[in-house]
Amino acid sequence: MATKPIKRSWAEPFKIKVVEPLVETTRRHREKAIRAAGYNTFLLASRDVYIDLLTDSGTNAMSDRQWAGMMVGDEAYAGSENFYHLEANVARFYGMPFFVPTHQGRAAEHLISRILIKPGDYIPGNMYFTTTRLHQELAGGTFVDVSIDAAHEPANPHPFKGNVDLDKLAALIRKVGAKKIAYVSMAGTVNMAGGQPFSMENLRQVAALCQKHGIRLWFDATRACENAFFIQEREAGWGRHSIAGILHTMCAYFDGLWVSAKKDLMVNIGGILATRDREVFEKARNLVVVYEGLHTYGGLAGRDMEAMAIGMEEMVAYENIRARVKQVEYCGRQLEKYGVPIVQPIGGHAVFLDAQAMLPHLPREQFPAQTLAAAIYADSGVRSMERGAVSSGRDPRTGKNIYPRLELVRLTFPRRVYTQAHIDVTVESVANVHANRERVRGLKMTYEPQYLRFFQARFEPVAAMRKRRAATARAR
Ligand SMILES: *Cc1c(COP(=O)(O)O)cnc(C)c1O
Repeated sequence: MATKPIKRSWAEPFKIKVVEPLVETTRRHREKAIRAAGYNTFLLASRDVYIDLLTDSGTNAMSDRQWAGMMVGDEAYAGSENFYHLEANVARFYGMPFFVPTHQGRAAEHLISRILIKPGDYIPGNMYFTTTRLHQELAGGTFVDVSIDAAHEPANPHPFKGNVDLDKLAALIRKVGAKKIAYVSMAGTVNMAGGQPFSMENLRQVAALCQKHGIRLWFDATRACENAFFIQEREAGWGRHSIAGILHTMCAYFDGLWVSAKKDLMVNIGGILATRDREVFEKARNLVVVYEGLHTYGGLAGRDMEAMAIGMEEMVAYENIRARVKQVEYCGRQLEKYGVPIVQPIGGHAVFLDAQAMLPHLPREQFPAQTLAAAIYADSGVRSMERGAVSSGRDPRTGKNIYPRLELVRLTFPRRVYTQAHIDVTVESVANVHANRERVRGLKMTYEPQYLRFFQARFEPVAAMRKRRAATARAR
């Protein structure tokens, strides 16, 4: 008798050696906590959070090898042994001969923006990232989004929504002239588009266009391994190449790159600025002393650099990157079963909920994504993040709110931290909020900081505002 072959599952490629207890809270406790936090999940205390999917930035679990590496930290002010290990691995995995460490990714963005951007310059990129764009603007530059239109359409299943639209880039070059373009910046798995990759073919074409016009091409390689994994999975001709091989090929197209080590490298802090351009490197090595620390530690302890160097070796391991991306995919597929609207395709580091589709009764001015993140927290203690109008901020020229087409809530997965059961709990909470979505009321911003407002802005429910106003009117 012919039997159907039994499906063989795979599991997380690690077992757990150290545990950190989680605390569950009551709905009443959470409602109080989110009110006190101004309905901003960034302002919640971690002790009030059950499953923390705010970000995958610096929230990763390090391996036993990385922890062992922490013990061989060489805390010399100059020429630490760990610096040389890291330098060798930057050359080995990213193919860049020159590098400076920085305390995190935005510090590298700060340095490169100061070095390459003159006031009045333009920096085209495949959709903006919050800190990247801000440093470009602070250096006097203007970011220009040259991502393909599909990147802005949450339901569009395009496999490479991180691609640059070559016509948009060529049009910008024609309009402002190549001299006015400081550099073209490309990010691997574009966060704001929903964790979406670019293809190797698109990168090749962008690089050719840049070369033709003598424009520099720089890489936000923070999530480069996720991008490499998607190229391996989706792009013809790359299925048999290793993650390390694909990463190397990608990096070869760029003049330089920056990395927030808090992502791919599976550490808790750190950043990298690396280049093959000796002149840019000389400037970076000098500037890093002003803002970060000596060029052989750049704001990091020796032990942090050691953990980064080892993290690089682990980030290209197929079983690690597969487990990471597939865990995110599992979460997305479960949510789909409940009819929750999510960005397609499912991203590399996060599932993005389409808040506008989920809460169509809320106008954009009431920040549907901010509202949804607060509602999910109140339901279960799962912490997520807004990626919509609050994150987009205001137009620096007009001062008006920017309402991007994507109004999303991000469920972001720290690497090697949560198990499948945690995902199930999360999915059920989002499904519950979705089932009761008509009851969700919008928010009004009551406090707005000048820079990167999403981190510290405060809100109040619209209904509560009305009630309070009525009460003040009565008191008068
Ligand atoms: C996190 C991140 C940054 C900024 O890095 P930090 O380490 O948080 O300062 C820049 N670019 C991308 C794509 C990121 O994900």
